[in-house]
Amino acid sequence: MREKRLFGTCGIRGSIDSKVTPELAYRLGMSLSTYIGDGEVVLGRDARTSGETIQNAMASGLLAGGSDVLDVGIVPTPTLAFSTDDLGADAGVMITASHNPPTDNGIKFHNPNGLEYLPEQELDIEDIYFEESYKRAEWNEIGSLESYPGAIKDYIGLIRDSVEVDPGFKVVVDCASGASSLTTPYILRELGCEVVTLNSSLDGRFPAHSPEPQPWNLEDLQNLLEVTDADVGFAHDGDGDRAVAFDEKGNFIKHDTLIALFAKRAVEREGKGTVATSVNTSSSIDEVVESRGGELIRVSLGDLPKASEDHDLVYAGEPGKSIFLDYGRWIDGSLAVAKVLELMSSESKPLSEIASEVPSHPIYRENFPCPDEKKESFMQNARDFILDEADEIREIIDIDGIRIDFEGGGWLLIRTSGTEPKVRTVMEGKTEKELAELKELAHRTVEKFLDVGP
Ligand code: MG
Repeated sequence: MREKRLFGTCGIRGSIDSKVTPELAYRLGMSLSTYIGDGEVVLGRDARTSGETIQNAMASGLLAGGSDVLDVGIVPTPTLAFSTDDLGADAGVMITASHNPPTDNGIKFHNPNGLEYLPEQELDIEDIYFEESYKRAEWNEIGSLESYPGAIKDYIGLIRDSVEVDPGFKVVVDCASGASSLTTPYILRELGCEVVTLNSSLDGRFPAHSPEPQPWNLEDLQNLLEVTDADVGFAHDGDGDRAVAFDEKGNFIKHDTLIALFAKRAVEREGKGTVATSVNTSSSIDEVVESRGGELIRVSLGDLPKASEDHDLVYAGEPGKSIFLDYGRWIDGSLAVAKVLELMSSESKPLSEIASEVPSHPIYRENFPCPDEKKESFMQNARDFILDEADEIREIIDIDGIRIDFEGGGWLLIRTSGTEPKVRTVMEGKTEKELAELKELAHRTVEKFLDVGP
């Protein structure tokens, strides 16, 4: 496929000074309008300080191109995706830079079913944008702008009415001052939970901590879990498509464990079914899915939406992100929160106990600096070397870097980052000894072809 020039792996993102400017938004608005042929577009934004200017420029471009705009205001990305589907629109546009710093913003397009635009669609938009082949509507065909303030309420209702949660859980939630402040705490209350909120007022400066939910910036959440004696804690990223969980003891639930739990439930409900996950996740997910009669497929990081188009899936998850296919095609953080509580209700056990039933194997991740221009040759060399060195290979997955699964049950992934000048290595052993051997092999490979010290 051709190289994209504007879009990255998650829409367009970057500094509001040099990349995601109102000028870009205006021209992209006209490009999208031309691409969908007028139509109606649901438009929303996260809580960033630059949101209003970018959103208004986007609206202006869409109207100039002849599209009608339904403005849903500040919403999490999953709400925007849901509304696009629910309101029968021809496209959805979300102004968000997810977990990027507050100086950035971004633009993401959605299909009528809520699915993010796929790479080939983004290329079509880029063609219109760079060729300036967008259509300008005549004076009597310019679009109309309407507000739709009901999106949040509709979305809260969707989740409240479809998950079964026993009342009475005490839940701590950290929304990173982001858009999910408008949904998750309210959904939890409607589900009968006692809710303790933290950083759950909108503030586009993200004053409390980075809007990327990582165990090391969620200490306040962990402390609050302890002092309030809560049953579970959750945190979101800036636009609420991601969710992470902590058990009643304040322990971070590993991303892969959460994926395994959601996958298990989806397969058990159907008695079978295909689950998709990314190349960098634990083989515990394979074990859980296969032992229940399901099938697991692995896809490139960021490719869950495409996988949900290409395969008949019951669930798709990559670290921090889940698509629940019985709801739609979008990644949904608030729904993931509700699904954890549903799981705790149906199992009638503390989350620590539920999580402990997922097999846990020692896993190790390490990143190394690698300039973008060296990435391709590094991967070529690393691949040849590692295939030469490794024995007892059970399976090779080379859709996103190279992942080798070994007969012993361990695996090693070496890939280059799509967003940063880095090589990422991930390895998992069935034993600490196997993990140490894989670590040694990964180090030998990286040191041979990258200028890094031992
Ligand atoms: Mg996000």
